[in-house]
Amino acid sequence: MKFEYLKENLQTVRDNIREACLNCNKNPDDITLIAVTKTYEADVMNASLEYGVTDIGENKVQEITRKYDDVKPGVRWHLIGHLQTNKVKYIIDKVHLIHSVDSLKLAEEISKRAGNAGLEIQILVQINVAGEESKFGTDRATALDLVEHIAKLPNIRIMGLMNIAPFDVEPETLRPNFREMKEIFDEIAKMTYDNIEMKYLSMGMSNDYKVAIEEGANMIRIGTSIYGKRDYSK
Ligand SMILES: *Cc1c(COP(=O)(O)O)cnc(C)c1O
Repeated sequence: MKFEYLKENLQTVRDNIREACLNCNKNPDDITLIAVTKTYEADVMNASLEYGVTDIGENKVQEITRKYDDVKPGVRWHLIGHLQTNKVKYIIDKVHLIHSVDSLKLAEEISKRAGNAGLEIQILVQINVAGEESKFGTDRATALDLVEHIAKLPNIRIMGLMNIAPFDVEPETLRPNFREMKEIFDEIAKMTYDNIEMKYLSMGMSNDYKVAIEEGANMIRIGTSIYGKRDYSK
């Protein structure tokens, strides 16, 4: 069959998840696998649903709206890329979880649009912890402050944190970043706001998901290892 390779790739990813979970005494059933389908069309996406994919991730609003009607209903869509405030309205009724909330302004727009649509929208707050060599990233205090402000908005629910680690690096070097994310996650989990429910720590991609799981990720976003290398020229 044309898409048989998807089955094999998914099996390999699931075996790796199981192995990482064994290393850290976790239950593989507690890890949510998000299949990242950016640049791939609905036929490939639908084939992967046949092999058990339940959650798909896209990083662009335009790609979600373009493919939405062609993908079999029932799958959960995740927005994992940068979201511009003026595009919130296009996806507000389509996505299960927005991973990339990184400003109060964006959260306010999501809150407003969710209210208009009569929805409660689940989000993750995106934090960029500074790596050992990187001087970029939101520091812990800024992140906590942002969470505290978002927690006061109606129609929006903070379900956890998301992190995009640098790629093309040795996964082991990211371990301290992942560990710091887990620390921030645990710190926020102690806050007592009604609309914070620290359930998901979204980190780990094809290159580094085993290390991410060992350090506390329970939501991983895998594209290349399932669908193959992306072709951006099309
Ligand atoms: C593309 C993308 C991924 C998946 O990356 P792979 O290396 O192909 O697994 C994960 N998260 C985000 C935010 C992405 O944009």
